[in-house]
Amino acid sequence: MDRFWENKTLDELNHGEWEALCDGCGKCCLIKLQDDQDDSVMYTNIICKNYNIKESKCSDYKNRRSKVIDCVSVTSQNIQDFDWLPESCAYRLRARGRSLPHWHHLVSGDKSAVHRLGHSVKGRVFLEGLVDSEELETMIVKWVQV
Ligand code: SF4
Repeated sequence: MDRFWENKTLDELNHGEWEALCDGCGKCCLIKLQDDQDDSVMYTNIICKNYNIKESKCSDYKNRRSKVIDCVSVTSQNIQDFDWLPESCAYRLRARGRSLPHWHHLVSGDKSAVHRLGHSVKGRVFLEGLVDSEELETMIVKWVQV
């Protein structure tokens, strides 16, 4: 396969290539909390109400932004602004000129590797709305990074 993700900048990727770069980890869809003192971002194990836990993907990716008001579209223009994305995010890695990890499906050819090797949210999250917002602080977890 043409290793387009290495041979092109993020700006040069076509739509299909851009979408293929996502590793499907689901961590961007986790509910996050920000520390009042130092602005640091903490991840919880609560995931967006629009996420399909069984299938490990957004339940309506195409219309996600009309359903979830604070959902964002990552682009080559704004990726630098989203420092809350996980260190392992493929867009973040490539924006910094770093290689994709061995388990990324473009490298391994195996879309299930991200889940099997524990780099995704699969099997470890609860759906937003099932937990009181006051309890969110008790749901902060440290996720495995690359
Ligand atoms: S964090 Fe990045 S690589 Fe993981 S699902 Fe979100 S956009 Fe895709």
